[in-house]
Amino acid sequence: MIIVTRSQATGEEHRQVIELLQQLAGSQRPISATTMLERRLITIDGNNLDAQAHAALSQHSAVERIVPLQTPYQLVSRVFQSENSRVVVGDRLGGQSVSIGAAAPVVIAGPCAVESREQLMEIAHAVKAAGAQVLRGGAFKPRTSPYQFQGLGVAGLHLLAQAREETGLPVITEVMEPEMVDVVAQYADILQIGSRNMQNFPLLQAAGSHLARRPVMLKRGLASTIDEWLLAAEYIVAAGNPNVILCERGIRSFDTHTRNLLDLTCVPLLHELTHLPVIVDPSHATGRRELVPTMSRAAIAAGADGLILETHTDPNSALCDGRQSITPEQLQTIVYETRLVAQIMSAPAVFEYVA
Ligand code: PEP
Ligand code: MN
Repeated sequence: MIIVTRSQATGEEHRQVIELLQQLAGSQRPISATTMLERRLITIDGNNLDAQAHAALSQHSAVERIVPLQTPYQLVSRVFQSENSRVVVGDRLGGQSVSIGAAAPVVIAGPCAVESREQLMEIAHAVKAAGAQVLRGGAFKPRTSPYQFQGLGVAGLHLLAQAREETGLPVITEVMEPEMVDVVAQYADILQIGSRNMQNFPLLQAAGSHLARRPVMLKRGLASTIDEWLLAAEYIVAAGNPNVILCERGIRSFDTHTRNLLDLTCVPLLHELTHLPVIVDPSHATGRRELVPTMSRAAIAAGADGLILETHTDPNSALCDGRQSITPEQLQTIVYETRLVAQIMSAPAVFEYVA
């Protein structure tokens, strides 16, 4: 249940509503307060206040409306906010501003890992020329083996900031620990929370409450249900950061032909369940570069708000995920096809079926 307080309510009135809710619901039930849509909101798990308690709460002068929700996630629910959220990236650190969740799909591209200055600058210019709007590059890499390249760390963040300066592209990079959120937010336009950390709750809370409130791209966990994923997003929003983008990157399957199983069903389903933008990562989902163009088209046709594509000028010598990395030439074709498919999807049905 969400209690929306009036925009004119004072801090004192807002506190009174929280106290009243605590009395009515019992002090053990966690209550959280956050600001979203320029309104202060109070959330509590479940709707089970009796009619008398409900009436007492709705009669408080500071309460604008009470929204009962049947789902465990609340603030991210489509029932709470019917219009799509648009996440604006790149307008704070000097990059070009890009809206994710607006009408046109956004293409994010770049290497899995930042490897060197030369590598990143070459790829950054190439992905910009290919038409991508945001540059990706991992500085802190969550690798399965401790013997694999772990990323350049803070030096990689410096390089990403230089690449933004040179190309104007906003940058996205992964943050793996709560203690590093502020540091990564100094350099990155979007914080990426990777699959392996989707349920790292202290990290989600830190990404929700850090001062810069950078947008967060939350990747689906390796074997997470949609409700678990939405509850992870809820952690970030409840902690005070409404700028969350969901990213489907494939889930574990029994088949070994592809690295993961791309769950495109989740795209229209998420649009029904949540107002947050949804993007698709066909690189990690398939693990094979030859499958990336087809699944990119399919993702846009399914209604994705964008794509994130691992791209490398020399994929075969990439230090990380080369097998699934496309070239800038392939990227250019995908950007073109993305626009084309999006146009078809948004065009009115002008063709009549002739038998
Ligand atoms: C990545 O984007 O390079 C990455 C590690 O992704 P995921 O968390 O989806 O495996
Ligand atoms: Mn990768």
